Amino acid sequence: MARYTGPVCRLCRRERMKLFLKGAKCDTMKCPIERRPYPPGIHGRGRIRESEYMLQLREKQKARRIYGVLEKQFRNLYAEAARQKGITGENLLRMLEQRLDNVVFRAGFASSRNQSRQWVRHGHVRVNGKRVTIPSFMVRKDDVVEFGPKAKNMIVLRHNLDTIDRTVPMWLEVSGEQATVRDLPMREQIDIPVREQLIVELYSK
Ligand code: SF4
Repeated sequence: MARYTGPVCRLCRRERMKLFLKGAKCDTMKCPIERRPYPPGIHGRGRIRESEYMLQLREKQKARRIYGVLEKQFRNLYAEAARQKGITGENLLRMLEQRLDNVVFRAGFASSRNQSRQWVRHGHVRVNGKRVTIPSFMVRKDDVVEFGPKAKNMIVLRHNLDTIDRTVPMWLEVSGEQATVRDLPMREQIDIPVREQLIVELYSK
């Protein structure tokens, strides 16, 4: 599946907030949001008229960018979320959280979702003992996510395990280089700054 390969700090500046797409750099003063907290481009500092459509679009773009999902895949996920029982917006966020690359990131193994995505693509991650190379693979309750024997000794993984101090969500249980999905995430356990109702309104037009 294709992915966005352009400059990522621009995406944060477009959304006027930190989306934490770059790992360690995001927590330093090198983060461009600290110095230029306005949208990129020549009109970045100009006056922006806030229409209802713009607010809805920004929420959708923010969610897409946080999870690194392109438009078509996001729309397909939305369609699936709308088909399921329950609140569509919550279903959508839960499905995004269930992505394998997100789980590796949430468990504190990777410094960013991009890094975890690369590890999955390179075959370093296993689910229930089987190698899975699809970042959008959706984990289910009781799945065990771990690294292959070679990957466990990767310097960058060891470094991350020693240095990343991220709160692991309640729905995951982490022990060493292994994460178990205790339950599917509830909305209150998903701490992303997105108003999912606006995404639903945008796609319901
Ligand atoms: Fe966003 Fe991180 Fe770049 Fe800051 S450093 S703009 S938080 S990706």
